[in-house]
Amino acid sequence: MVEKAPAPERPEPIVEVNNLSKIYGGERRLFGAPSALLKAVNNISFDIAAGETLGLVGESGSGKSTTGRVLLQLEAPTSGDIIFRSKNITGLSKRMLRPYRRDMQIIFQDPYSSLNPRMTVGDFVGEPLDVHGVCTGGPERLDRVAALFRKVGLDPAFMKRYPHEFSGGQRQRVSIARAIALNPAFIVADEPITALDVSIQAQIVNLFQDLQDELGLTYLFIAHDLSMVRFLCHRVAVMLRGRIVEMGPCEAIFEDPQHPYTRALLSSIPIPDPDIESTRRPLTFDVSANLPPDDAVLEPVGDGHLVMRG
Ligand code: ADP
Ligand code: MG
Repeated sequence: MVEKAPAPERPEPIVEVNNLSKIYGGERRLFGAPSALLKAVNNISFDIAAGETLGLVGESGSGKSTTGRVLLQLEAPTSGDIIFRSKNITGLSKRMLRPYRRDMQIIFQDPYSSLNPRMTVGDFVGEPLDVHGVCTGGPERLDRVAALFRKVGLDPAFMKRYPHEFSGGQRQRVSIARAIALNPAFIVADEPITALDVSIQAQIVNLFQDLQDELGLTYLFIAHDLSMVRFLCHRVAVMLRGRIVEMGPCEAIFEDPQHPYTRALLSSIPIPDPDIESTRRPLTFDVSANLPPDDAVLEPVGDGHLVMRG
């Protein structure tokens, strides 16, 4: 594992999320009451500095993917604002969003379902270039796709192959190549290593790191498994039932976790030492008994370290 780059000085945030909420349900039905409301994302705020990686962690169903989708305007928020490069992009029309679409990309968990089985991986990686009219096809496009393949550690000779001919790790490299095709500034990576063998996960994490160093990328790295988050992320936000209950520098979260939910999440990470591992006792956290009240706010407990009390 390569050393992660030192945390940047926290210059201007490139992305800001202010009081963001996404509520599902409440649709009117022909008979009976409207469907129940679900606060998938409940009034969260955070920012990410250029060149920084913010880890967004929490168990399944806590609202991480919804946060990522709303942040990229793939879905409209119920309330709140999304600021990108100091511009409020909330609710912009498709046409107005178009330049931002190039700059903000997403990588999904399961590379197989996000790849098109009938398209060669070379065409898949080159498609954004066509869609945005970046090059006119022919040799120039071929060169650019080959360069993208090399950048993610794939042999350009594989360009004519189909997704089923690749391993999970290679397919995720293909997805990453496509995501960086338009030189984006910001990437939401939604559990990009969860579906991979443990032995492959570190390689993909290293690739994320190398690309960040080389291209100055900013990441929102979504994970429910915290083990790799420690290596990759500069800051971490912990989500519980739609709320951020703790947020801070990676070291503070891992070495001085304050919220009982963060502690429980951390205690579930296996330790690669059989002696310690045999005595590790995961903490339990009773969500329903410990949900923060609706008016709870994050309070500072250290340098950039915030915890929800109550
Ligand atoms: P995570 O990514 O942390 O597992 P999600 O953001 O996928 O969590 O989901 C958060 C909550 O929102 C879950 O209870 C999920 O069932 C619900 N949810 C997500 N997407 C939708 C949707 N399109 N319609 C209704 N409920 C949704
Ligand atoms: Mg998810």
